[in-house]
Amino acid sequence: RASMQPAALPHDGQGGPPVHGVTNTVVGVLGGGQLGKMLCQAASQMGIRIIILDPLPGCPASSVCDEHVVGSFTDGDTIREFAKRCGVLTVEIEHVDAATLERLEKQGVDCEPKASTIMIIQDKYRQKRHFSKRGIPLPDFMEVDTLHSMEEAGEKFGYPLMVKSKRLAYDGRGNAVAKNKEELSSVVASLGGFERGLYVERWTPFVKELSVIVARSRDSSTVCYPVVETIHKENICHVVEAPAEVPDKIKKLATSVAEKAIKSLEGAGVFAVELFLTEDNQILLNEVAPRPHNSGHHTIESCYTSQYEQHLRAILGLPLGDPSMKAPAAIMYNILGEDEGEAADSFWLISLSGGLKHSRRISPLMRKQRKMGHITIVGSSKISVKSRLDNLLQSNSSDPK
Ligand code: ATP
Ligand code: MG
Ligand code: MG
Repeated sequence: RASMQPAALPHDGQGGPPVHGVTNTVVGVLGGGQLGKMLCQAASQMGIRIIILDPLPGCPASSVCDEHVVGSFTDGDTIREFAKRCGVLTVEIEHVDAATLERLEKQGVDCEPKASTIMIIQDKYRQKRHFSKRGIPLPDFMEVDTLHSMEEAGEKFGYPLMVKSKRLAYDGRGNAVAKNKEELSSVVASLGGFERGLYVERWTPFVKELSVIVARSRDSSTVCYPVVETIHKENICHVVEAPAEVPDKIKKLATSVAEKAIKSLEGAGVFAVELFLTEDNQILLNEVAPRPHNSGHHTIESCYTSQYEQHLRAILGLPLGDPSMKAPAAIMYNILGEDEGEAADSFWLISLSGGLKHSRRISPLMRKQRKMGHITIVGSSKISVKSRLDNLLQSNSSDPK
């Protein structure tokens, strides 16, 4: 259904965004992790040249990219050198040197999404302020830099109180919960102290966590993927059910909040919007990722255009593809490492025993609570995909589920 014809050339003639050909533009990606790997797989299918910058030799994307430049995406000089080789620069992780991207943009380097977007998102407190100013509903939050200010926040928001690091957060590392006033100082210490940069959020007793992936083209038109439910295990996304089992009016509300949030940011690409659904049917924004996201892995098999293909289309100025599902239901299951350093028996067993599998790590060695790979099952109904997943996991009884 989706057309692969090149986009009509924008003709603003006033220093607007540079125009890309379909095949000659080299895509440069900051980061070569699991998301980078799947982005490279999509690029390969589309005949798009893609190079990655990642410090780790043998990083997940290294085996599927056109070239892996071994170097740091937090080092300005390294990024500047890397950028010389790319027609468009994008990210698969937000923890990059955004100040360098901003300087490069001023020199005419094409970054998608824009450095301004990465800057807002990589600081979760700044991100919250940005969205709250624009009328996006989100849990109450407050910056804290002393125990006194935390106690004030505790009085205002009550307990449990969610304490978050502003920067370098992923998979819940960087978050901690204080159950009462007495726990505040140990929670601060566990996050590395106030020097790290902390803020607090009101605890949100959500009934479901939802996610919407929004794709935005270079001319700022958007398309949204179906709303999915994300189920976390110890703060790590564990299962994604697509589509989410919520009333249509909740789907519409979630989609409109997500679209409004993304329209307040600059640049092209796919963006994931993590949302809370509350008991009284409110949708609150948790956070945004300016890149493909774990909640969109299922799109590889279940949608007409995967989030990875869509990201490439968006940043290259190709027409956006159809984000809708081609099957009634899909379920994605993340395989998480169990014990540090042990061979991942359950992982390999699950991989070999069926399901549409994606292994992410080159090495079969597990790292505790790291995402080792995932399985997607697509089918005719939610019940059928769930029962197929249950059977698969039961037949791999070493998986703790
Ligand atoms: P990610 O890997 O998604 O980037 P992260 O480290 O940035 O994760 P968050 O998304 O802030 O962490 O939080 C992780 C999880 O913690 C959420 O998915 C949700 O389950 C829970 N959580 C976060 N904020 C709150 C809150 N204010 N109230 C209740 N639960 C929360
Ligand atoms: Mg995050
Ligand atoms: Mg999150």
